[in-house]
Amino acid sequence: MNLQLLTKSNLHTHTTFADGKHTAEEVVLSAIADGMEVLGFSEHSFHSNPTVFGMKSPERQQEYRKEIERLQKACADRIKILCGIEQDSHSGIPTDVYDYVIGSVHYVNLGGELCCVDLSAQTTIDAIKKHCGGDPILYAKAYFEAIAKVEDDTQCDIVGHFDLITKFNERTPIFDTSDPRYIKAGLEALDALLEKDVIFEVNTGAMARGYRTTPYPAPIFLRRIAEKRGNVVLSSDSHNKDYLAYGFDKALQIIKASGVGSVLTMTKDGWKNIAI
Ligand SMILES: [Zn+2]
Ligand SMILES: [Zn+2]
Repeated sequence: MNLQLLTKSNLHTHTTFADGKHTAEEVVLSAIADGMEVLGFSEHSFHSNPTVFGMKSPERQQEYRKEIERLQKACADRIKILCGIEQDSHSGIPTDVYDYVIGSVHYVNLGGELCCVDLSAQTTIDAIKKHCGGDPILYAKAYFEAIAKVEDDTQCDIVGHFDLITKFNERTPIFDTSDPRYIKAGLEALDALLEKDVIFEVNTGAMARGYRTTPYPAPIFLRRIAEKRGNVVLSSDSHNKDYLAYGFDKALQIIKASGVGSVLTMTKDGWKNIAI
């Protein structure tokens, strides 16, 4: 199934510039040791609102770019390094200097308060009580309305972790993902994004960190992507140099079972569509 080829590339990678465990240089050396051909960094964008994950200042974001450029030059004969950004929908920092943009919704605006959707199960439960009258589906609707607009807000190439709100759902069931209102809200958002020229990542990050046993998005959404011939890319959302292609084998099986026939991957020569 071309797994070996697909594990040679990852575009969703974090470092100590934000909430990753290892420096960019440590990550590059690990990728080279693993035989990877393409490594894309996608640090969390700076945010003028107080946030949990983002780079702490615009200056820090510039330092990030400089360091990735330094590594690009220093390692050009060993690996292709790209400098991307994981642009939060509320960030607003210009992205045109980056090789690519992953657009993500980490916060939903509920009653004027930006609530982080992937901090902990308890913060999600608290926000549902405080802002949604205890109805998780209202929270899910707010999230899906925001992700539906993520390309407008970030001009992203790749949509990050489409159903991120399910991060804690395996251990702490919060959202009934079989509720028709949940499915309708998710599919409406997905359909809006499928009209745009975006790639959906199949993201194994929460698997590597022990929150989930399957990638985002859920099979019901992957099946819709298959039906409408949308594009997908595997990504590890890595926060650790040892997990740069974590779970790609399982994710690929799930993608295939959902009816998606090919996966995009970034190679030294640009995007390639790989039949699976
Ligand atoms: Zn993210
Ligand atoms: Zn990320």
